[in-house]
Amino acid sequence: MTELATKAVVRDAAMGLSTARALHPSTVNSPVVAAGSLLNIEQLSVADVAGILATTTRLQAMNAAERARLLAGRTIALLFYESSTRTRTSFELAAKSLGAMTTLVSDKSSSIEKGETLKDTGLTLRALGAEAIILRHPASGAPELLARVTGLPILNAGDGMHQHPSQALLDLRTILLRLGKDPGTVDSKTLAGVTVAIVGDISHSRVARSNAQLLPRLGARVILCGPVELLPKTALGLDPHEGSPLEIARDFDSTLGQSDVVMMLRIQKERLAGVSLDLAGYVERYQLGVERLAAYAPKALVMHPGPIIRGLEITGEVADGAQAAIELQVAQGLAVRRAVLLRAFGVQV
Ligand code: ASP
Ligand code: ASP
Repeated sequence: MTELATKAVVRDAAMGLSTARALHPSTVNSPVVAAGSLLNIEQLSVADVAGILATTTRLQAMNAAERARLLAGRTIALLFYESSTRTRTSFELAAKSLGAMTTLVSDKSSSIEKGETLKDTGLTLRALGAEAIILRHPASGAPELLARVTGLPILNAGDGMHQHPSQALLDLRTILLRLGKDPGTVDSKTLAGVTVAIVGDISHSRVARSNAQLLPRLGARVILCGPVELLPKTALGLDPHEGSPLEIARDFDSTLGQSDVVMMLRIQKERLAGVSLDLAGYVERYQLGVERLAAYAPKALVMHPGPIIRGLEITGEVADGAQAAIELQVAQGLAVRRAVLLRAFGVQV
């Protein structure tokens, strides 16, 4: 075995996974995933999404003291195997604002560093009283494994290149707010007539996948735009076909010209193994700068899940400009994650 392969096996064993990248459900124990888990966006019906957004709106209308009673005395663990600023902080603040007690376990400061498996870490957290776990992990499928071994509600805060369901929900709420639609009521026609472009490193992006699965179900047309290195023909396993609400485009300018919303994505350097990309050429063809935006999409809403690499996929001027909704997205992260946490505990408001 090469040194690299040995390392991969050790790493997989440490995660308690038989294959690190794609975990098949048959490799895990329990058939039962606790209700209230949020593992992927596809598990939510349009009615479920509408329910989460309606709860978000009701929570926003409450005062802080009322909100703080909703999960008082409950314990929530945040288990993070990849770095995060927005997702971790907003989940943590959301949980605290509902009155819950939180604890953070990250790979840098725990027995994970010593090789403890995901399963054992999960069981340990459960034994310590965690009633729900928010998990970020580099392996697709890790949240499902944790859900099955612990029986606890698990909230997926990003798993590998797979899913980031709460990000798609917060992006949806941001779009609704900025397009002047009622964020508390959605159905399968809410985004009819709205074109959303998702641009850049599509193939490595769990944000792109979750949004591309959610937005068409509310009526949106979604254009995935990027170079072939970052957006192969069969993108995200979603397989756009004629007549489907998903399209693939290579030309950014013409895509911009058709879009009401443009979601820019970071080039995920940490996941680029084996991809050769000419960065200067990429910037020329796909960077969103003021001139391009003014020329092709002077009214479009500009979004980005963060972290932004200013000067690469987007210029600082656009990121800070009036068309950008990047901070609004972050704020919606806090709002929507409160609703997702209440759902995990089966608490209605
Ligand atoms: N990965 C980004 C960050 O760390 C956003 C996130 O937290 O999901 O800021
Ligand atoms: N924050 C997003 C994520 O965690 C996007 C990114 O990292 O670029 O997937």
